[in-house]
Amino acid sequence: MAVIGFIGLGNMGMPMARNLVQSGYLVYGFNRSKKKEEMFEELGGRKAESLSLIAEKADVIMTCLPEPKDVQDVLSELFELGIGGSQIIDFSTASPALHEDMKEKASREGVEYLDAPVSGGTAGAEAGTLSIMCGGEEDAFEKARPLFDVLGASITHTGPAGSGTKVKLINQYMVGMHTAAVGEALHLAEESGIDQKLLYDVLSQSFAQSKIFDRHYPDFIAADREEPGFALSLLLKDLNLAGEMAGNAEVPLEAGRKVKEMFEDADQQGYGNKDMSAFYQYTSGKHY
Ligand code: NAD
Repeated sequence: MAVIGFIGLGNMGMPMARNLVQSGYLVYGFNRSKKKEEMFEELGGRKAESLSLIAEKADVIMTCLPEPKDVQDVLSELFELGIGGSQIIDFSTASPALHEDMKEKASREGVEYLDAPVSGGTAGAEAGTLSIMCGGEEDAFEKARPLFDVLGASITHTGPAGSGTKVKLINQYMVGMHTAAVGEALHLAEESGIDQKLLYDVLSQSFAQSKIFDRHYPDFIAADREEPGFALSLLLKDLNLAGEMAGNAEVPLEAGRKVKEMFEDADQQGYGNKDMSAFYQYTSGKHY
C-alpha cells in the first residue's frame, strides 16, 4: 500500500487523513500548528514533524491547505527538497492557474499532479462521502482512484490539471449565492412574523430546498453554532477566486459581484472566523 504524506490537518484534512489511516494506509501528517499533529497521532497516524520527512518517505503527497499561497509555498519547498514519491494530490480550493503551474513543475520532476478539490463539508469528510472533482491526466486519476474511494462517494475526472478547481469554483459561486439567499430569507421571515422553523420545514418540501439550507439552518443557525465548519473567510477566498476565473472568461457574474461585496463587508465586520452560515447574523443586523 502507498505511504501517504498528508499536509494540512484542519477541519477537512484531519478527518480525511484519519479515514486513510482507518483503511490501512500508513499516513504521515504534517501541520503548521503541532497540536494537530499530536491529535492525528492519537487517531492512529504518524507525526511528520518536517516537510523533508514527507518529501523522502511519501509515495503520495496530499495537501489540504487554506489559501492558494499556502499550497504554492508548501509545494515549492517540497520541490526544492526533492520529491521521492510519484504523485501529488491537492484537495484545497486553490486557483486553476496555480495548478497548471504546479503540474508543469511536477512533470519536470517525473511526478504526477492532480488537483482534486472536494465538496460536502466536514460531515462529508468525516463520513468519507465527499464529492471529489479531479483534474489531471487520466492514468494518474485512475492510479489515485482507490485513495479517492476511501474519501468520497462521488468521484469525477473533470479533464486536465486545473479543471477540477474550475468546477469547484463554480460550485463555490453557487454556495455563496445560496448562503446569501438563506441568510436574507431567514431575516425576511423573522421580520415578517414567520417562524423560521416553519419556513424551513415548508421550503424543504418546495423548490427553494437546497443542500445549503439543509446545512445552514438545522446544524448552525437554529443550533446557535458559529464555529466553523467552513469559515466565512474561506468562502470569501473562493468567491474571489471565482471572480478571477470569471474575469479570465470575460463573464460578468453580476449578481455574484454584489454578494461578494457583502461577504467582504461581513469579513471586515468580524464574521470571517465564524462559520459561513453566520452570514445570516451579519445580514439580520441590516434594516432600511
Ligand atoms: P482549516 O483552516 O480548518 O485547516 C487548514 C490547516 O492547514 C490548519 O490546520 C492549518 O494549521 C494548516 N496549515 C496552514 N498553512 C500551513 C502550512 N503552510 N503548512 C502546514 N500546515 C498549514 O481549513 P479547512 O476548512 O480544512 O479547509 C482546507 C481547504 O479545503 C481550503 O482550501 C478550503 O477552501 C477547502 N474546503 C473546506 C471545506 C470545509 O467545509 N471546511 C469544504 C471543502 C473544501
